[in-house]
Amino acid sequence: MRVPTVRPIILFYLMIGYVIAAYLWWMLLLLEKNTETFQERRQAMIERYEHAGIDKTYFYNTDEYKDILRRHDSQRNMIVGEGAVFLLIIVIIGWRLLRGFNKEIELNRSQKNFLLSITHELRSPIASVKLSLQTINRKHDLPVETQTRLINNALSDTDRLHTLVENLLLSAKIESAAFETQSEPIDLTSLVLDTASKLEDTLGRGRTFQLNLQPNVYVNGDYNALVSVVNNLVENAIKYSPAQSAIQLTLMAKGNDVTLAVADEGYGIPDSERKKIFRKFYRVGNEDTRRAKGTGLGLYIVNHIVALHSGEVHVHSNDPKGTIFEIKLPKLNATV
Ligand code: ADP
Repeated sequence: MRVPTVRPIILFYLMIGYVIAAYLWWMLLLLEKNTETFQERRQAMIERYEHAGIDKTYFYNTDEYKDILRRHDSQRNMIVGEGAVFLLIIVIIGWRLLRGFNKEIELNRSQKNFLLSITHELRSPIASVKLSLQTINRKHDLPVETQTRLINNALSDTDRLHTLVENLLLSAKIESAAFETQSEPIDLTSLVLDTASKLEDTLGRGRTFQLNLQPNVYVNGDYNALVSVVNNLVENAIKYSPAQSAIQLTLMAKGNDVTLAVADEGYGIPDSERKKIFRKFYRVGNEDTRRAKGTGLGLYIVNHIVALHSGEVHVHSNDPKGTIFEIKLPKLNATV
């Protein structure tokens, strides 16, 4: 079913436009009425003074005239002042409603994309594993290299499924109040090394890892949650970079912080998208990156988990091209 988007927005603009126009109209009428009342009073005064034979110019200095002039001015200021406040309130409410409305539309759109991509993400590795196993099962005379290739393909497909299921579970857990992370000393150097070596099979044509990991870097945290952070960042670096490119993993401790940087030479992320990529289900609408399959959950999870570890995630451009994701976590100083 299509989510109707344009018509409600047009109706909303029409409604807000009508309210503002009607209000401006009422304001003008009130100002006009105020001026009319002032002019009538002044005219009545002039006639009274003329009747009494007093010089017309004299009456401009009388307290009575000054009083009706002051009343006119203060009523005019009140109408304009209160009108401006009211208009400001309407504009703020309208703007907030529109923002909420746009967010709702974007979430609807992302959820639709999510459902489409998750169907594909589940179907294609299952079909591919099945095909590999069927081939091995039927053709007993397959050369050993072909068998090994099919088995490796099946293994990397099951890894993909594993990450997908992990991400789905984690994102559901993150939203429940019951989500709790462990806090134990973790050797981040070994964690990054293990995660990278598990992902080596998925590097594909000509991509290489360049590791620059300071030994014995420790943080306090949840092992599985941090594996998920590294996994998602490295998988993204692989997914969103071309063959024959390097992926650099740098880990170092400095001062009270530990910094892990995952740098690729890929398609990069436009400046305007850098904040949005951490939203749930969000995927950059760029042909190069869209070709890679995904759900838009990875960075949402990364951001949440890093925040739960009192850390920060930053995104920069790599030189000459690509992206660097940098994670800062508090260093664990105790010798473990
Ligand atoms: P997914 O990869 O499943 O789409 P993520 O939440 O991991 O979801 O990433 C959100 C979006 O951010 C991706 O769809 C992609 O457009 C962009 N992105 C993430 N990492 C990179 C990267 N290393 N290079 C270029 N674009 C990236």
